[in-house]
Amino acid sequence: MSKLKNPPSPADGYRGRFAPSPTGPLHAGSLVAALGSWLDARANGGQWLLRIEDIDTPRCVPGADLQIQAQLHACGLFWDEEASYQSRRQEHYQAAFRRLNTLGCLYSCSCSRQMIANTLAAAGVHTPRNQEMVYPRTCRPSQMKPNSDEFLGETKKAWRIALPENCQIQFEDLSLGIQGQDLCQEVGDFVLRRNDGLFTYQLAVVVDDAQQGITHIVRGQDLLNNTARQIYLQNQLGYPTPSYRHLPLALDANGEKLSKQTLASSINTESDQSVLAELRKAGEHLGLRDLPDGGTTIAEWLLAATKAWRDVTANTQPKD
Ligand code: GLU
Repeated sequence: MSKLKNPPSPADGYRGRFAPSPTGPLHAGSLVAALGSWLDARANGGQWLLRIEDIDTPRCVPGADLQIQAQLHACGLFWDEEASYQSRRQEHYQAAFRRLNTLGCLYSCSCSRQMIANTLAAAGVHTPRNQEMVYPRTCRPSQMKPNSDEFLGETKKAWRIALPENCQIQFEDLSLGIQGQDLCQEVGDFVLRRNDGLFTYQLAVVVDDAQQGITHIVRGQDLLNNTARQIYLQNQLGYPTPSYRHLPLALDANGEKLSKQTLASSINTESDQSVLAELRKAGEHLGLRDLPDGGTTIAEWLLAATKAWRDVTANTQPKD
């Protein structure tokens, strides 16, 4: 059981977080997200929490959570409060899921990916590789209503949220400016619980951000495309929307996002010198200038980086 108190309101001050999925050790790309979110929290005198997003258990690598924590420690990126684990918070996701059901917006779906692809192809819709298929609403009932508890317990099927027509979401990203997505056109009714019974990232992250009182989300641009879905769920569940800042992605030599799939290697934390080299690389990627390139401790470097972060973000802090 996680020990979360009543969620603090934004009036209690800045609360940020780093939320890695434990699918492997930190690599140069995830260090950019860790450092950027840490700097933003510290530059604003805020708190920085660590959440291990181990909701997708089949993808998790045993021990990766502890390895990530050891790497963050080695980098001097200490977090406030106890690290939280999504795998221990199922009942909170279940409660939110049931709440959405009372709004009459959930329906079960037995379509496989192949069936969805075939339906779309038959309708002449071809989804480019790396883009999501917009669900063609095959299983959506013509009249939406709350499902019985018994039916909601059906775990062999996926459960989707029915979006209203014209579901345009807009938000201001602190780095990228105004962003918008038409959820119906670009995403479609999305899955909140998978057919293996696991709640999806979209639901879990929204519940956790709200219950942990997160006021500022600073993360990689690979997650930008998820933000409208998350804001939509926040609105449905009556949660506040935090401010968002999406950071430039670290790419490999082929222009691909660094990730476990592209075999990004673990950051090197063997010595303070190697940690400083990793931090410097991440700092440069974040656009930090005039940082000491030698003769400092990790703590001194982080202090200088916090000041540099304040300078580069001076014009893009949220307005009160
Ligand atoms: N767990 C997600 C990832 O590692 C990050 C989620 C988030 O920051 O919202 O990609």
